Order: sequence, then C-alpha cells, then structure tokens
Amino acid sequence: MRLALQEARSAQQAGEVPVGAIVVHDGHVIGRGHNAPIDHHDPTAHAEMQALRSAAAHLGNYRLSECSMYVTLEPCVMCSGAMLHARLKRVVFGASDPKTGAAGSVLNLFDEPSLNHQTQVQGGVLGEACRDLLQHFFQARRTSQSLHRSSHQMNLREDAVRTPEARFENLPGYPWAPHYLNDLPSLQGLRMHYLDEGPQDATITWLCLHGNPAWSYLYRKMLPHFLAAGHRVVVPDLPGFGKSDKPKKASAHQFEWHRQVLLEFVERLNLRNIHLVVQDWGGILGLTLPMAAPERYSHLLVMNTTLATGEQPLSPGFLAWREMCANKPLFDVGRLFGRGNPHMSEAECEAYNAPFPDAGHRAALRAFPPMVPEFSDSPGAEIARQAARFWRDDWRGQSCMVVGEQDPVLGLPVMQTLQAQIRGCPTPLILPQAGHFVQEHGEVVARYALSTFFPDEFEAP
Ligand SMILES: [Zn+2]
Repeated sequence: MRLALQEARSAQQAGEVPVGAIVVHDGHVIGRGHNAPIDHHDPTAHAEMQALRSAAAHLGNYRLSECSMYVTLEPCVMCSGAMLHARLKRVVFGASDPKTGAAGSVLNLFDEPSLNHQTQVQGGVLGEACRDLLQHFFQARRTSQSLHRSSHQMNLREDAVRTPEARFENLPGYPWAPHYLNDLPSLQGLRMHYLDEGPQDATITWLCLHGNPAWSYLYRKMLPHFLAAGHRVVVPDLPGFGKSDKPKKASAHQFEWHRQVLLEFVERLNLRNIHLVVQDWGGILGLTLPMAAPERYSHLLVMNTTLATGEQPLSPGFLAWREMCANKPLFDVGRLFGRGNPHMSEAECEAYNAPFPDAGHRAALRAFPPMVPEFSDSPGAEIARQAARFWRDDWRGQSCMVVGEQDPVLGLPVMQTLQAQIRGCPTPLILPQAGHFVQEHGEVVARYALSTFFPDEFEAP
C-alpha cells in the first residue's frame, strides 16, 4: 500500500486526483498505475486500469488469478468490473469512496455471487494516509478555485457565466476602459458592462444600443467622432452579450426584462439630452424607451431596425435568419460580420467572437431570434404598438435615419415603413454598400448624424 501511495503522489504532481495502485504476484510488484484521465484524455485511465494493464502485459496473460491489487481508494464500478474480468485473487484498498465506491460503499460488485467467484476484498488498509492525501488535494483545489473566482468571477451569479477577460485583450480599435454595474434591481446581481467616454458633464450624451449578436464593439468607429465633438458616449452591452454577464439559460432572456434593464440603466446614469442611436435589437428595445421618460431624449439616429408590433408577418429574410440560428446554434459570429463587410480585418471579425468562447456563453444568441414579437399578443408586441403611437404622435425631438441597403432582413422597405412611423423623420441616408451592421461604416454614419443635428458645426460627409 505504501508503494500505491507513492503512485498516488505521482498522480497529484501531474494535477490528477491522487489515486495509485500496484499489482503483486509471488511477492513481486508486476504492475503499477496512477490516475491519469486528464493527461491521457482517457476516461478509463484510472490507477487500477493502468496497473491491471501493466501487470497483464508483464505476465503475457489477461488472467491475473494469482495476483493481488493494492489501491489507495475503493475502486469504482468500471475498475471493479475489470478486476473481476481479470479474475484477480485479492483487492486491498485504503480509503472508502462514499460517492462512487463499488466495493461496499455505493454498491458491492464483489459481493454479487453471479459476477464474482474468487476475488476477495479488504478495505481500510492505511486508510487514513490514503484519505488525507485525497482531502488535501481537494482542499487545495478549492482554495485555488476560490482565488481564481475572486479575481475574475467575483459575485458571479450561479446561473450565469462571465467571459474571461483575456478574450477581450488587444481588440483592434477598442481601447476604452470597461465600466460595470451590478446593482440595478432588474439585474438581480448580474454584472452589466458599458462604455462611458467623454466628459461626464457634457451637455450631449449619445446612447448607443447594439443588437444580436453584437456588443459595444459595434460602435467603435462612431465613438471617436462623437468624442471629438466633445460629447459623452455611453454604450451598454446587453446582458448575455459582450462583457456583460451571461445567463446560462436562454429562457432568462425576455423582451420586457431587457427593456426594464435599459430603463433602469438610463435612470441610474441619469442620462439627459440623450441622442439615442439604435440598430437591430438596439431599436426593437431602444425605440420603446423614450416614451417612458420623454424628457430625457432629444435626438434619434436610427439604423436598420424595426418596431416589432406583431401586426405584420415577419419577413422571409427574418424567418430565414431565425431558422439558421436554430439549425446552426454554433454559427461563427465573426464570419457573419465578415460576410457583409469585406473591408473588415480578420481580427475585427474575430472580436465579435470574443464574448462567446463556447456554447455555454451563447444563451442570448439562441434566445433573441425567437424573441422578436411575431403575433399581436407576443410578449413585447403591445409595448411596441405603444411606442409606435409615441413616435407618430408625441415625439418632439429631431431624427435622422441611415439605411444599409444590402440588409436582407431589415433593409430599405422595412426602414421606409419605419420612417413614416416617426414624426418628422427625414428621408434616410442610404448606404448602398452597407449591410445589416451599418455601424461597420460608422465613420460616415457618425459624421452624417453630427452634420444633420449640428449643421453649423459639422459638414456633411
Ligand atoms: Zn475506477
């Protein structure tokens, strides 16, 4: 058993759960093994399996009927089964395993007369030493995990994930410092990220809202122009996107919840003279915000989006998008951007993949397409109808519209309908080369908005 303990320490040094085993024949050690499933990429690489393999190879015989196994932990079902197949004479183990032990703890395979005719079992040999080794290992691992949490995962809700910081290092054209909020009532502890650049006391604040599957990175080409004008720019990442925490379950994403988060966000930052910038879901949600606090909003820049009132059938282009998302839930987000924007570099496209290292981070991407209100009683549809009335009858601010003409989903026809719904909205600027993600042509968009809203200060692009 002391030799088995040595094997267990080798496992520990390799970062594996410390379990070791030896096989003895005629007083000689003929097989050794330690736990190595991580290192070998092999779920069967338990210490006992390794020891059985090396002993059988040594004897040139798959039957080990004259052999004894010494193992530091009670064997599992797999290993007990393998020992029975080998017709092992005797098994001696150290610590009991109340979770997966198959030699008496959870069940006892060796006690099944129909399975076992000869293998004897004895537990508890050097049990304390074997157990201590395991306990210290798990204790150290918990400590290092909690240290890891304290730097990266602090206050992360159990039902959410957080994209590792390293995914966002050195993204091209995105030098801005992160800002976080986690105490909005609707967030219930989720951490929300936003950019907040320019003077806090600026008289003008651009509030830029992204959609699915984008994040604040989408506005990197527009920000510098607004900042150069001396304005403040605030760009939140919706929960589930960008650097914001991501609920694990798609069902956490609901139209009214996202709207409530944005309403509380605007109140918390006490934004005034808001120049609202919307596109895609940034508009589906964002266009429903000003009616709740009309005194805060003075200008609107609207790009490819819609008021999803549930009154019109969803377009074939949207249905195709929704179907693609359902059929290919792991679609490459960066490539989606690159397809409509050949001028983007590979690194820029890749920045759109940064928030989503794996499927566990992609609940929002699954949730959003089916969340677009389809029928007049769909969640969000009634709010969108109220918003439509607001934009038609009550909006007193100034508006401008920019349309990416290549967008098959929310292109010119949809936008012309929307233009007619917004009181005083002038004929849109049409960008024939731009697709759905109009902001990838952000320089011309920002300059157009500045020259429209402040014609004395800025020239039209
Ligand atoms: Zn096992």
